Amino acid sequence: MTTKTMKYEIKFDRNLYNLLNDIQYEVFLLKNKATSIAYDWQNFSFSYHDRFGEYPKEKEITGVTLTADINRMLKKDHAKSVYSMTRETAVKEAVDKFKNDKSKILKGEISIMRYKRDGSFPIRAKQINHLTKLNSKQYTCKLALLSKEGAKERGLKNGQLDVDLRTGKGAYEILDRIIDGSYKLCDSRITKNKNKFYLLITYSFDSKQMETLYPNKIMGIDLGVNIPAYLAISDDKFYRQPVGSKDEIDSFRRQVESRKRSLQRQRKWCGEGSIGHGTKTRIKPLEKLSGKIARFKDTKNHCWSRYIVNEAIKNNCGVIQMEDLTGIAEENTFLKTWAFYDLKQKIKYKAEEVGIKFVEIKPAHTSGRCSCCGHIHRRVDKDIWRPKQDTFKCMKCDFGHKFYVNADWNAARNIATKDIDKIIDKQLEKQEKELKHNLKYAI
Ligand SMILES: [Zn+2]
Repeated sequence: MTTKTMKYEIKFDRNLYNLLNDIQYEVFLLKNKATSIAYDWQNFSFSYHDRFGEYPKEKEITGVTLTADINRMLKKDHAKSVYSMTRETAVKEAVDKFKNDKSKILKGEISIMRYKRDGSFPIRAKQINHLTKLNSKQYTCKLALLSKEGAKERGLKNGQLDVDLRTGKGAYEILDRIIDGSYKLCDSRITKNKNKFYLLITYSFDSKQMETLYPNKIMGIDLGVNIPAYLAISDDKFYRQPVGSKDEIDSFRRQVESRKRSLQRQRKWCGEGSIGHGTKTRIKPLEKLSGKIARFKDTKNHCWSRYIVNEAIKNNCGVIQMEDLTGIAEENTFLKTWAFYDLKQKIKYKAEEVGIKFVEIKPAHTSGRCSCCGHIHRRVDKDIWRPKQDTFKCMKCDFGHKFYVNADWNAARNIATKDIDKIIDKQLEKQEKELKHNLKYAI
């Protein structure tokens, strides 16, 4: 949860401004009074201690907490016209401040707090109602400012007052989000500066990234044999990021396989049919080994998925796109069976946790398509557009001719394209037509 505050000017209205001035004055008196009562309590507490050898417990003496007791005392003749939530919160603020400063006050390090005439006053979230947009520069809401008594004194039906707020660029979007419920309205304040009153709206939202994730910025992730994951970002032709390396997996795999072989040799040497002591001791290291593999998988994939999601956040990507892996031929079993599926799951939940949308796309032709001109290369010509396993060279445009283009990066760029499935289908149709057309002329 992140909490932020934004300042909104309260549109001038003589009656409203007079009333806000009065509340400000009442709250100023109230807070100073509450502070001096808290101070008196402190002195009482010392003499009580001198007499009885222990400090008095607030609740035992007054039946309620100190704050509640002070509120009860002041209710009769202080800030009577002010709405109860503002009044009670102001008292609480004063008492909390006193308690916080107490030890320093007693040591003489600081003096007792004196509130100023032009201070701010609290407005609880519940006091702000019916927030409505008039236009992008003006909003209106109903603020519960006066008590019943206060409203009566002023000849008003109730203590809820219409308050218009002015907003500038950027600030109005926050109000829109409060209205649509994506931001939560929190306890706020009213403050005055150079004869203008402001509502300081405090709001909170779930993930701190939410406001910087763009729904049209897509991160495409290609899972590959050479590099476990390759990242690209839509509309960003310079972004390219390999994640992890084949060596990491290879060296681990070599370790695992050599260990397995040595265990198998041991087994052979002991003989297949031996039961008893020998088998028991051999099972243990094998179990240990599978546990080790599982942990390695898990740690690596957590590490890579965390890195990938952080990259997405850093680059404001509101969407992560990956290939749907179900039904893919089981070549490279080692990578396919563990790394890919598990890694994808981990990316998915970490992305969704921070509000990034996770989208699966059809994997067909994502590696054969030129991410620059859109031409789709057929599988049969693979050695032409992929002269080496890790290189891409377009046969239609000069993508990959002047500079080396990593094949996984090209695929990742395709995967990062919005509606890539549809784009590929259309392109295939177009190429099919062209082919038929060319054949006709060839004949
Ligand atoms: Zn091309």
